[in-house]
Amino acid sequence: MNEAYAFILRKTGGPEVLAPEPIDIPRPGPGQVLVRNEAVGLNFIDTYHRSGLYKVPLPSGLGNEGAGTVLAVGEGVEEFREGNRVGYFSGPLGAYATHRLVEAERLVKLPEGVSFEQAAAAMLKGCTAEYLIERCARVQPGETVLVHAAAGGVGSILVPWLKHLGALVIGHAGDSRKAVLAKELGADHALCCPMDQLAAEIRSLTEGKGVPIVLDGVGKASWAASLGSVARRGLIVTYGNASGPVPPFTALDLLSAGSIFVTRPTLADYCRTSEEIRASAARLFELIEKGVLAIRIGARFPLRDAAAAHRAIEARATTGSTVLIP
Ligand code: NDP
Repeated sequence: MNEAYAFILRKTGGPEVLAPEPIDIPRPGPGQVLVRNEAVGLNFIDTYHRSGLYKVPLPSGLGNEGAGTVLAVGEGVEEFREGNRVGYFSGPLGAYATHRLVEAERLVKLPEGVSFEQAAAAMLKGCTAEYLIERCARVQPGETVLVHAAAGGVGSILVPWLKHLGALVIGHAGDSRKAVLAKELGADHALCCPMDQLAAEIRSLTEGKGVPIVLDGVGKASWAASLGSVARRGLIVTYGNASGPVPPFTALDLLSAGSIFVTRPTLADYCRTSEEIRASAARLFELIEKGVLAIRIGARFPLRDAAAAHRAIEARATTGSTVLIP
């Protein structure tokens, strides 16, 4: 079982299309680094690539996020050498593998205090939290923020990060066990009501005003609740489709909801350059090392069982981050 392998997506579909294939360990070309993965991050986006919701040319690698050890570097790579502990979270796909090549400019050195598992659990979701909170919504102390799926991977990093900045956090989760978790993460209020009751709950918690900021990674199932919960001139950041894509809406719907703003951002546009990737990761690692963020690993799966991990995240059966171990 020590052979090198990778998941190559040859057709889209359910979790059953995921299968490891033996590979030859690749050699790094100019500007590339060969990484032996010690831990791989599971992200909801992996299921979109697998199912075909997000189209990728086939065959394709799968997975965005991993952490491991540098085994070799290609020509022209100055900043990394054999033995460095590194992580990556921004394309191209191919993290579901024992070994892979990564462009040096997309690689981040791991601080000593951050383990491989923590890095694989935290980087993609935590850098998403960084850009959503600090560069996209630009949350200010005292603002109230509604976080959907508050006990999920991104959600469980958003909640303590927002609290650290002095925001008031209302978390919503799919069941009472997850709501307890959201509360433990620091949410001021943690709700688990049915989606069609959420807007009324939010209005009663905010003297009818609604919240100035909604962070919504759930999509289809939560869109109406987000519209109903946002305050006049507030902002909905719709950043994911865990329940399916947001249904079509018109500019007049934004008027009716109270002259609101909507943005649909993606990490790829906020961590585009090497400088952006490293600045975002540095901010994340700073908050981990200070103890502001305790990255919660809810489950570990052998990488070979990635299909089981996909089934779990799609069934809403995971909390916090899930890591895949090669
Ligand atoms: P999560 O661990 O948060 O899992 C998704 C959660 O969504 C579930 O646990 C569940 O929480 C909730 N959910 C609600 N309805 C459904 C449904 N019908 N099916 C499945 N889940 C549902 O995943 P991640 O942390 O990996 O990602 C969260 C979201 O953020 C995803 O939509 C992802 O695509 C998005 N994302 C976007 C990025 C960007 O830059 N735009 C970057 C990274 C992630 P509950 O039961 O509590 O409702």
